Amino acid sequence: MARRKPTIESAREAIDKLNEQLLDLLNQRTALVDQVRELKVRQGLELYDPVREAQQIQRLVQKNRGPMSSTMVEAVFQEIFRSSLSHQLHTATDQAPLVLSRSGQPRTVDVRSVPVGRGRPVIIAGPCAVESEEYLDQVAETLARLGLRFLRGGAFKPRTSPYAFQGLGMPGVEMLARVAARHDLRVVSEVTDACTLPELVRHVDLVQVGSRSMYNYDLLRRLGTAGRPVLLKRHFSATMDELFQAAEYLLSAGNRDVILCERGIRTFERATRNTLDISAVCLVKEHTDLPVIVDVSHAAGRRDLLLPLSRAALAAGADGIMVEVHPNPAAAMSDGSQQLSLPDFERYLEGIASFL
Ligand code: PEP
Ligand code: MN
Repeated sequence: MARRKPTIESAREAIDKLNEQLLDLLNQRTALVDQVRELKVRQGLELYDPVREAQQIQRLVQKNRGPMSSTMVEAVFQEIFRSSLSHQLHTATDQAPLVLSRSGQPRTVDVRSVPVGRGRPVIIAGPCAVESEEYLDQVAETLARLGLRFLRGGAFKPRTSPYAFQGLGMPGVEMLARVAARHDLRVVSEVTDACTLPELVRHVDLVQVGSRSMYNYDLLRRLGTAGRPVLLKRHFSATMDELFQAAEYLLSAGNRDVILCERGIRTFERATRNTLDISAVCLVKEHTDLPVIVDVSHAAGRRDLLLPLSRAALAAGADGIMVEVHPNPAAAMSDGSQQLSLPDFERYLEGIASFL
């Protein structure tokens, strides 16, 4: 009987069958990989073994009888090895990243008994940098009188120029904590280096990861076990996915108390210091359970836009606002043009009162 000529349909049918067989074989392979993983973990061995990988590829290239080229064999098996390694590292790759797994309930982050993410939006205010105890006291007194709960101030200042004011360091953190304690305020301050973290967490209630540090994965990992809530600012060039992955470092290391912060991203626009990405607030709400706040000061870089931007952020569903306030903005050591004076701050607060 004459063999039927192959048609596209019959070839495709055969490919479908082979795909299923390949899938079956790859699953068998994955089950073996899981066994190897367990043994390696028990024996304290590294999961990634590049020598063994190279040996396997070499062997397969030698055994290859075509029509696949050696390059194709290498590429296909490298992809299999890469996926296997990722499977081993995640144990269950089907599981969604923690940052994207929804419980159906927005998460509330408790900052020494002040909730963020539930109820009224919070206002985190204070000077750009900790400069003097007297200035801090004036700001803190105003915040407390207005019923606000958070005092911010940078003591470790990551500045673009190495010649710009770098902050008072740990004595500045201690000063901030002293002033906050006098007015029963929660302390928000930035950490720039994992070395200072153990000392810093003794004085700070909410540890800020600045925009420039969002990619410092070592710092994030350490903050995962530092025992303090973290305010994670989006890098000015970070995509939302990168922000979420940075949060994943904190969550996967064991810290569930993460608040995200949109602070403006870099665009072609020069009228503002950065461009406030309001959609970031909506995207955080759409994809995660985490609270999100908006830093209007670093987004705008100018005080005249702080009120409308804050209204926009709160209307979009932000759980809070960060805003820089200084008793004498003209004399501020940093970010003078975007800080609000105390009387201006009181007027600003009236302007957003209907959202609070
Ligand atoms: C800050 O909040 O003090 C600060 C430096 O902001 P960013 O990291 O967003 O630039
Ligand atoms: Mn600033």
